Amino acid sequence: MLSTKKHKDDFQEIDLGGNIKVSKKTFAIIAGPCAAESRDQVMRTADRLSEMGVRMFRAGCFKPRTDPYAWQGSGEEGLEWLDEVRKQYGMKIISEVSNYTNVALVEQYSDIIQIGAKAVYDHSVLNYCGKSQKPVLIKRGFGATVSEYLRMTEYILSKGNQNVMLCERGIRSFETSTRFTFDLCGAAVMQDETRLPLILDPSHASGNAKFVPKLALASAAFDCEGLLIEVHSNPEEALCDKDQALDLDEFKKLYERVKLFAEINGRVVV
Ligand code: PEP
Ligand code: MN
Repeated sequence: MLSTKKHKDDFQEIDLGGNIKVSKKTFAIIAGPCAAESRDQVMRTADRLSEMGVRMFRAGCFKPRTDPYAWQGSGEEGLEWLDEVRKQYGMKIISEVSNYTNVALVEQYSDIIQIGAKAVYDHSVLNYCGKSQKPVLIKRGFGATVSEYLRMTEYILSKGNQNVMLCERGIRSFETSTRFTFDLCGAAVMQDETRLPLILDPSHASGNAKFVPKLALASAAFDCEGLLIEVHSNPEEALCDKDQALDLDEFKKLYERVKLFAEINGRVVV
């Protein structure tokens, strides 16, 4: 398996250019709203995050919603807003694909392609991303064992793209008091067995903004390569994943504390 330390011992650093690397020496903070909802929302959020020092901006434009009648995202127009963020603030952009037909478009506008917990089961998505030149953040499917997840990842690696980051975002268990169960045990196994960067996502795991700071700090202490956190300029009005979004002030407080844990682990926040 190409993802494993057994195959190759050196860690897969991801060089995003502009002095931003995901590595054993850095701690990546990927922050932004679940979805790009309007130009105003995107620019307002990016402006504040950039001012805080955040360098990696996330927002989905193709949202694979559970409910077919729910809003499905802003599509290419949203990607154009993200491009504006990239140009105006120099932030690196991460955005998700919902199926193989939007891989080329997302690839064109973003610095990292995100494969979500549902799209990760689609082999055409994995194969297209495997042929892409752009780094990929592949989320663990919420029903996939670590072993199954690593084999999904292997589809990308075996097609040629080695710039792949893993992401634990919670799995489904018998526990229903939180949206999903944050599997730090599985994350520890991934880190032990693979040579790929590991990003932890406490936002989707808990589904509850109240618990995100606590879990984010645990994730920073865990000594993974970074965090994915959902932040909204006005969570109450978010069109997607509103219950788990931090507002900008809550995020700022957390960001400062996360930096301390990263430092303890000898990492610089990027
Ligand atoms: C997201 O990152 O907004 C998202 C849809 O996440 P997941 O695929 O983990 O549900
Ligand atoms: Mn989301």
